[in-house]
Amino acid sequence: MTRFAVSPLAPTTLPIQGSDAVFPVRRVFCVGRNYGAHVREMGGDTKDQPPLFFTKPADAVVAPGGAVTYPPGTSDFHHEMELVVALKAGGADVAPSEALELVYGYAAGVDLTRRDLQTAAKKAGQPWDSAKAFDASAPVGAIRPATGEAPAGAIRLSVNGQVRQDGRLGDMIWSVEEIIAEVSRLWRLEAGDLIFTGTPEGVGALARGDFVEGEIEGVGSVAFTVA
Ligand code: MN
Repeated sequence: MTRFAVSPLAPTTLPIQGSDAVFPVRRVFCVGRNYGAHVREMGGDTKDQPPLFFTKPADAVVAPGGAVTYPPGTSDFHHEMELVVALKAGGADVAPSEALELVYGYAAGVDLTRRDLQTAAKKAGQPWDSAKAFDASAPVGAIRPATGEAPAGAIRLSVNGQVRQDGRLGDMIWSVEEIIAEVSRLWRLEAGDLIFTGTPEGVGALARGDFVEGEIEGVGSVAFTVA
């Protein structure tokens, strides 16, 4: 038996709707700029750009009921409401036509962002880790097992009951199938991987005490209070 010098971390897990099994998280991939209106609100252009990827550590995922605290080192802490894809199988160079066969299910998630650090990193050509991959930066709701087509309905986020983001999954520039295919060209995907698929317009700042609630039609919800 292996004798660990320090205690190994237990895997981060997410609950599954209608099941007492839990989903063990391996890696967290994220897509930047995937809705036209959000790309434009951030000063970008949607035309002919390949999808932009970044990652978060698995232990940045916050399961329902877990704590989300206002992170240190920022004064512009933003919400980005996103559809999260959970994989049950892996692969490299996956064809878009076969991509949905890898999907275990879908969840509602929030890509929390230190916007001020991201803006500074973009300007300086520096990596985004401190802007995106910080502790508790990825609250995710219970996973709904997939039943065929990728969800295409409404995606919304409210803060203290006021709607801030109100979009449609069908407005994504890159579809779920295309995103899986594109990620798999750069990394070998495995069961347990999560993919955040980008946010619609309406991103904005959060303050301590804010109650954040997101919902995706046909998928589920995510909710937390910023402590
Ligand atoms: Mn995002």
